Amino acid sequence: MIIKLKNSITNKEYLDLCAKIEELGLTPRNVDSENHKVLNIIGDTSKVDETTISSWPGVSNVTRIQVPYKLASLEAHPEPTIIDVCGVKIGGDNFTVMAGPCSVESEEQIISVANDVKASGAKILRGGAYKPRTSPYAFQGLALEGLDLLKEARKVTGLPIITEIPSIDLIPRFVEEVDIIQVGARNMQNFELLKALGKIDKPILLKRGLCNTISEWLMAAEYILAGGNNKVILCERGIRTYETYTRNTLDLSAVLAVKELSHLPVIVDPSHSTGRWSMVEAMSKAALACGADGIIVEVHNNPECALCDGAQSLKPAKFDKMMGQLRLIAPIVGKKI
Ligand code: PEP
Ligand code: MN
Repeated sequence: MIIKLKNSITNKEYLDLCAKIEELGLTPRNVDSENHKVLNIIGDTSKVDETTISSWPGVSNVTRIQVPYKLASLEAHPEPTIIDVCGVKIGGDNFTVMAGPCSVESEEQIISVANDVKASGAKILRGGAYKPRTSPYAFQGLALEGLDLLKEARKVTGLPIITEIPSIDLIPRFVEEVDIIQVGARNMQNFELLKALGKIDKPILLKRGLCNTISEWLMAAEYILAGGNNKVILCERGIRTYETYTRNTLDLSAVLAVKELSHLPVIVDPSHSTGRWSMVEAMSKAALACGADGIIVEVHNNPECALCDGAQSLKPAKFDKMMGQLRLIAPIVGKKI
């Protein structure tokens, strides 16, 4: 339920209103934006009579949100959410490029790639320390050592860092050390993890699950938002279909769907969605053209020898060329890169 407030509402009316809502066993949450004064009501509002609330002082009107992802919905928050990550803006008219290797492999590798992607214009450095691999015998990531190396790369380049969290127990460490916490596709419906991430104040990149609908993805975001963390970035990373030529099927229409349904920023992963480096530039251009708020791209200094996902990783020179192309397209579609 959304309560639109009158612009003339007094502080006392506002506090009285919040108290009355709390008496009903519900939680009022302020989501003021530039043009709207709005209170979102969290909890079971099925027994609440909206005509009564409409008559309370300071209230302009009351609307019930029909979709199940109430906080993620555009109705709850009519303007796009823009998330600030150490001064880098994600959402609105920004096209934010995150780039780096699939996995952090060594100090030399991560520093070299970090310097390269920064020089080409990436704003955020990616790198996996914990790798969710299909086989338990495949490289699992350098774990905490990988996290330390990412921090080292941040120190050298000044780029904020994003990395995937494998489990709840690592949350305190990630909150302390990482700038964006990534929830991988395989964890999109790990509801206990999502609930725990809802309680922290840190941007979360929520990847779409391998076989999940847009509605399930938005409900997963809702778990984080419901806990009070409103810094959620969505990431379309391809879904599993009957097609096998590409690693997954990139669902670019999901970007438009998210824009129709939600205020949350949505970025595209052209690497995991295609599994092929030769498709990354074209899919990145397509992501920019269709209104995505950014991309997260795998770049490796020596993809042939990468410990993970070399086949979909761009070499730094190719990434540089792609960035040049994206810079040409961005102003045409009204985005800043
Ligand atoms: C990744 O970004 O490194 C990754 C494992 O992606 P996904 O969760 O989308 O498979
Ligand atoms: Mn990868």
